[in-house]
Amino acid sequence: MARIVPRTEMTLVEKAYIPEIARGLKVTMGHFLKGFFKPESIPVKHYPEVEPFVPRDYRSRHRLMKRPDGEPRCVACFMCATACPANCMTIEATSSDDDRIEKKPSKFEIDQLVCVFCGLCVEACPVDAIRMDTKKMAFAADKRETFKVGLEDLMDWDPKDYPESDIQSQKAPGGTLNAQARKEWGLQ
Ligand code: SF4
Ligand code: SF4
Repeated sequence: MARIVPRTEMTLVEKAYIPEIARGLKVTMGHFLKGFFKPESIPVKHYPEVEPFVPRDYRSRHRLMKRPDGEPRCVACFMCATACPANCMTIEATSSDDDRIEKKPSKFEIDQLVCVFCGLCVEACPVDAIRMDTKKMAFAADKRETFKVGLEDLMDWDPKDYPESDIQSQKAPGGTLNAQARKEWGLQ
C-alpha cells in the first residue's frame, strides 16, 4: 500500500540557505579543528596495521576441523551443502581409509564470492567439522578463481591461533591435546 510522506514547509531562514550552510560548516570546522589540535581524540582504526577486534561469534572465513591424525573430521554427508542457501559448496566423497569411518571428502570447495556468510553450513554439520571462527574477514585477489577455497586452504590453520579452551582445535596436529587425542584415537 502506498504511503504518503508529508512534506514540511521550509521556513524563510531555511529558504535563504546561507544560515543552513553556515550551520553545516560549523559542524565541519568543529571536527577539523578538533582533529588538528587534538588528533588523539579522534577514533581511528589503524587498519590493516592494527587488526580490529573481532567478536568471538563473528562469522568469518570457514575452516575444516581436523582429526588427531590430521584427516578432516568431515564425513562427506552433504548436509552443509544441502542447507547452503547460496549453493556455493561443492563436495565430492570418497571412501575413508579408516575402517571406523565410512566416507571422507575428496573435494570440498566453497566459492567465497557466492557465499553469503549465513553460517547455515556450520549449523547443519552433525560432527562439528566446519566452523567460521577464523576471524579472517578481508579477502583480496585479482582472479575470481582465487576465491574458490578447497580442502587444503580450509584445513590450513594452526591450533596455536585458537584458545586452550577450544578442545577440538587443540586435538588437531600441533595442538596441546594432540598426543592424548592420538592415544584415545588408537594412533601411535
Ligand atoms: S555460510 Fe551460508 S552461504 Fe556460505 S557456505 Fe555456509 S551455508 Fe553456504
Ligand atoms: S562439513 Fe559437516 S555437514 Fe558438511 S559434509 Fe562434512 S560432515 Fe557433512
